[in-house]
Amino acid sequence: MTDNTIIKVEHLSKTFGEDLVVLKDINTEIKKGDVISIIGPSGTGKSTFLRCLNKLETSTSGKIYINGADITNKKTDILKIRQKMGMVFQSFNLFSHLMVIENLMLAPMKLLKMSKQEAYDNGMELLKTVGLASKALAFPEELSGGQKQRVAIARTLAMKPEIILFDEPTSALDPITTQEVQTVIETLSKSGRTMVIVTHSMDFARKISSRVMFFAQGTIYEEGTSRQIFENPQKPLTKKFIHSISS
Ligand code: ADP
Ligand code: MG
Repeated sequence: MTDNTIIKVEHLSKTFGEDLVVLKDINTEIKKGDVISIIGPSGTGKSTFLRCLNKLETSTSGKIYINGADITNKKTDILKIRQKMGMVFQSFNLFSHLMVIENLMLAPMKLLKMSKQEAYDNGMELLKTVGLASKALAFPEELSGGQKQRVAIARTLAMKPEIILFDEPTSALDPITTQEVQTVIETLSKSGRTMVIVTHSMDFARKISSRVMFFAQGTIYEEGTSRQIFENPQKPLTKKFIHSISS
């Protein structure tokens, strides 16, 4: 493993129940600072792959190393590793009974042992970054979908993660709020954090990714730079998918 590898996946497979094979022998290495987009048809295991990376799903076989630690080993402290690895979901998952700023303060106080003041300052700073400082005292239900997602991103950042996983962060949003959220993610993509983003938004994937993975048949069917995947795909299913979305 070279020094700047942050995620390494070896022979990862995931089966649900007796015989639903969702991921088949996935092998890949992600470097620090990589911005990876995962694209592909529904049902091909994109979300499952992302969830295996932070052990929200337990893999059936294979190994997953995060910063060198094998999270498939039961002795590895997954809670500690998850602190360095944020996840942003399609459905925001904010705490509805807490104000926006409280949503951002909770985990840093509990897990990073920040003082209340520190957590507040850190939270306000991040709300500024996503353009929502004025909503600090609002409750999630008072926000638009796009604003909720920007708060969810700020909350993830509040834990100072090295890796951020995004699972279709704009799929529940209308075009305008999608744009607001994509702008925030695009800015983040230049910050040196490692990001893995499942998305149906091809222009967005093309614009921000250092590498694109096309998922099909439960595996990374083809991967390459944006240019390689979008302009010059090599394998039949990739070609078919790219042609279908560009026509
Ligand atoms: P994608 O994100 O590419 O649309 P998913 O990873 O969500 O695909 O799902 C891949 C396959 O795994 C689908 O057939 C889905 O129904 C199945 N699946 C996902 N999660 C579960 C689960 N918890 N139990 C059983 N089957 C699941
Ligand atoms: Mg999915």
